Amino acid sequence: VRRNPHESEFHQAVKEIVESLVPVFAKHPHYMKHGILERIVEPERVITFRVPWVDDQGKVQVNRGFRVQFNSAIGPYKGGLRFHPSVSASIIKFLGFEQIFKNSLTGQPIGGGKGGSDFDPKGKSDGEVMRFTQSFMTELYRYIGPDVDVPAGDIGVGAREIGYMFGQYKRIRSGNEAGVLTGKSIVYGGSLTRTEATGYGCVYFVAEMLKSIGWSFAESTVVVSGSGNVSIYAIEKAQQFGAKVVACSDSNGYIYDPNGIKLETVKRLKEIERKRISEYVNEHPGSVYTEGCTGIWSIPCDIALPCATQNEIDDESAKLLVANGVKAIGEGANMPSTLEAIDVFLQNGVQFGPAKAANAGGVAVSALEMAQNSMRYSWTFHEVDDKLHHIMKDIYRNSVKAAEEYGYSGNLVVGANIAGFLKVADAMILQGVV
Ligand code: NDP
Repeated sequence: VRRNPHESEFHQAVKEIVESLVPVFAKHPHYMKHGILERIVEPERVITFRVPWVDDQGKVQVNRGFRVQFNSAIGPYKGGLRFHPSVSASIIKFLGFEQIFKNSLTGQPIGGGKGGSDFDPKGKSDGEVMRFTQSFMTELYRYIGPDVDVPAGDIGVGAREIGYMFGQYKRIRSGNEAGVLTGKSIVYGGSLTRTEATGYGCVYFVAEMLKSIGWSFAESTVVVSGSGNVSIYAIEKAQQFGAKVVACSDSNGYIYDPNGIKLETVKRLKEIERKRISEYVNEHPGSVYTEGCTGIWSIPCDIALPCATQNEIDDESAKLLVANGVKAIGEGANMPSTLEAIDVFLQNGVQFGPAKAANAGGVAVSALEMAQNSMRYSWTFHEVDDKLHHIMKDIYRNSVKAAEEYGYSGNLVVGANIAGFLKVADAMILQGVV
């Protein structure tokens, strides 16, 4: 706290992990001797830069860009770029820190990083988004590369933004280094299944948790927050598995459709027309829109998939979910549950899939995109989906095993943190004090 004042999100993320690692340090004191804890909470490099651009009125705008290169012990830095007005050093550091362990869990050779800007793409024209992203990349290009640091998308950064950034990188660097960014469109080096990967992966993970209590998605009622990239594909896979998804949201409010959400409408409104989720009710009589986000957790469900943003479930919402009989939570978003909310779930026997395990499918397929770019080859949708499914099952198994081994049976928060940590810590020791 003294070294990183005013970084509450970063403190929250570090606290969660460090508390989980207490039994690891007790069992393996040599990690202390090697200063692993002190080193792992300090990013290898933090880059902050000015992003000037000209809006449609000819006025100069200035945003702030960030890239945190947190840990490269097991591979090139890897993690998304977030464009949202709330972006700050604290947010990027919390995301970058979590990314280290998540990336390790995937079993792929990728280190941890994250970046972004306080730029708000909402309400901006295509031209403005392009000028901003080109300016952003004109500075960022110095620090990234297919074997150095490979950014991807996150909130506010989708295929359009990745495309503009890739175009600008290529223009500056001359030569087509496809592996410098992931989340690319399929027509110039992207991977099939990347768009779907985080949402699908989250559902694959939750399906494994449900198996352990003899339950399944089929016939379950599901609530999914958000209506962005992760949410849409979590809804799609949950529906394919036979669930009835009754609610989703955006940053203004949520919709409840007792007949089950019609995903084609959500996709059209959010992916193509870039409209508000409130418009859904105009097309589906019987559905209801409610202003404000947290009320979505008062809807009774068997499975809740928070897929919007950090700290969207507090202890009050968690208690409501428990009172309404929720059986499983799968965190599609990063850190959507507060520490207090997680305690409520764990103390009440709810199956809880923490973000760094449950949403690791996105970055796992990003690593598969890098592999395809290196091979100059593309796998089919089915091949990538199959690999994703196996990876999510492995993450579940490894997290369960680590939790058991260290005396926290059934606690996947601890299990995922430990399983992700061990590999990175061992790699750091093998590479000396760097
Ligand atoms: P998108 O920008 O595509 O979607 C975010 C969704 O959440 C939008 O519907 C947005 O609404 C909504 N939202 C944003 N803020 C709030 C809020 N305060 N309350 C309620 N809803 C809100 O982002 P992604 O789907 O890509 O990312 C969602 C989460 O998943 C993030 O935490 C991200 O870090 C995490 N994640 C994403 C991965 C990926 O592959 N995309 C990989 C791993 C994690 P609106 O339309 O109004 O903006």
